[in-house]
Amino acid sequence: MAQAVRNYAKELEGLEATLAQKGERPKLLLHVCCAPCASGVLEGVARFFQVALVFYNPNIGPREEYDRRLLELKRLVGEMPLESPVELLEAPYDGGAFEEAARGLEGEPEGGSRCLGCFRLRLGYTAKLAKERGFDYFTTTLSISPLKNARALNQIGEEMGRRYGVKHLPSDFKKRDGYKLSVQRSREYGLYRQDYCGCVYSKRERGAGESEK
Ligand code: SF4
Repeated sequence: MAQAVRNYAKELEGLEATLAQKGERPKLLLHVCCAPCASGVLEGVARFFQVALVFYNPNIGPREEYDRRLLELKRLVGEMPLESPVELLEAPYDGGAFEEAARGLEGEPEGGSRCLGCFRLRLGYTAKLAKERGFDYFTTTLSISPLKNARALNQIGEEMGRRYGVKHLPSDFKKRDGYKLSVQRSREYGLYRQDYCGCVYSKRERGAGESEK
């Protein structure tokens, strides 16, 4: 029998309605890939959860780009008014972990199997940290991008949740005009919007596309 297609945005909406009804505000560890994506997600989740952010992105290269994206996130967190304050946890830069995850997959196009390993690495770290620090849920901002496969992200999130014993929060943040909001907020806050996903391979791919044009 064919499996029903899940609507992750609707699942999140349902959970938020239940939390509001019960007057509960669980602790959420939100993995953040960059400031523009966070700008479309933060206001929504801060209404229903006590949120902490984690910047764990060893996929980003070169190092200057990593530092630039992190700085921009710190600026956003400092400037954006939210319903409840958020703490930003900085993970150490661990480029070797990404190199290992991407080994043999360097030539894959964006959206291919290298990206699944990249999601697994970042969500695994977040789930483990969420468990260690006593969070109720974890998830990532990544699903706000129209280029990211929300189904793959949610499946990997659930797999990591089972592995580390912490609940994955279903999400498809691009829905409910989430992506549109991130573009609008990025403009309002004058955020740096990078023109490639993150790894040096995606930067190369983008460069090749540009020169073909
Ligand atoms: S293209 Fe993006 S998601 Fe895919 S491996 Fe590179 S940084 Fe990770």
